[in-house]
Amino acid sequence: MVLNCIFAAMNLEHINALKKLLSAPKKIAVIPHKNPDGDAIGSTLALWHYLKSKGHETVVVAPNDFPKFLKWMPGAESVLNFEKENTQAKNILHNAEIIFTLDFNHLGRVGQMTEYLEKAAAAFVMVDHHQEPSDYAEIMYSDVHMSSTCEMVYHLLDYLDATDDITSEMANCIYTGIMTDTGSFKFKATTSTTHRIIADLIDKGADNTAIHSRIYDTNSPSRLHLLGCALKNMVILEAYNTTYITLSQKELDQYKFTKGDTEGFVNYGLTLDNIRFAVIFIENKEEGILKISFRSAGDFDVNNFARQFFNGGGHTNAAGGKSDFSIAETISYFESLLPQFKKALTK
Ligand code: 5GP
Ligand code: MN
Repeated sequence: MVLNCIFAAMNLEHINALKKLLSAPKKIAVIPHKNPDGDAIGSTLALWHYLKSKGHETVVVAPNDFPKFLKWMPGAESVLNFEKENTQAKNILHNAEIIFTLDFNHLGRVGQMTEYLEKAAAAFVMVDHHQEPSDYAEIMYSDVHMSSTCEMVYHLLDYLDATDDITSEMANCIYTGIMTDTGSFKFKATTSTTHRIIADLIDKGADNTAIHSRIYDTNSPSRLHLLGCALKNMVILEAYNTTYITLSQKELDQYKFTKGDTEGFVNYGLTLDNIRFAVIFIENKEEGILKISFRSAGDFDVNNFARQFFNGGGHTNAAGGKSDFSIAETISYFESLLPQFKKALTK
């Protein structure tokens, strides 16, 4: 399919270097970030299917487990979990000749796996759409204008002259990541090219209705009650056009929290009139941290905010971070930061 992209994306030298690397069978590890989402699992699995079909010995190694609503994805059962299958995973990283890192751009994003990636002898290939990539990959395909890493995997296959090799399994994986990272095709990074790719993926067997339903129609009563609790906890700071939600470990336990249950909660804040900045703070007693998600509408840059104050990062309108302090301490720190952004949040 001819895409007519406006942005020159992956540099020709890197495309040729990758073609050369893949010209003979290799041992390859494909890595998503910690707490992988639809884009991370979709992109790693799509690439895994492709590389295997070309005769490469390929394994997806995830830093930890991923939510149930992604487990239906073709190939999901073969993903190695570094936390659970630790020895096997370490061996694969140690022996890999090529390591693809997908949907993240600095090695700190893979938790306990970081040190094993740092000492791996493999050639690194980065495919990612987050801001400010670090410099660890020999072959880089980094483009912050892209809707998703899954869309980039499609382009990558195009650069490798391989879009005709996209199977229905791959199409379903790529579709999923584009859908989840674009908020079902509504975020600003969704372009006409994104839609052309989506059309081609449907032609190649992506079951759009089934994918949507498998990802979004998966509520359990306890998850809906947890959402009720989160919405009840929402604090609205009108002076700063900001809302935040807190969820304590006690509340998560009360509503039988399982991985992925809080996905999307933070977005409710942005559905309120005038709200530009929405945040959720989620306690994780086991890791001794609060996991924080930041969302914004308009040009308030939450990537910068997360990076500067909460040891995180991401995109202009969606970022994440963490805090080592209690909910009360973190909220008080967060609120103390807002006055310096009053102008940006209210202009
Ligand atoms: P979420 O809030 O849904 O976990 O993540 C929103 C965006 O920010 C995603 O693109 C995610 O990859 C990125 N992100 C989440 N947490 C972190 C973090 O701790 N560090 C960095 N650099 N990016 C993060
Ligand atoms: Mn992504």
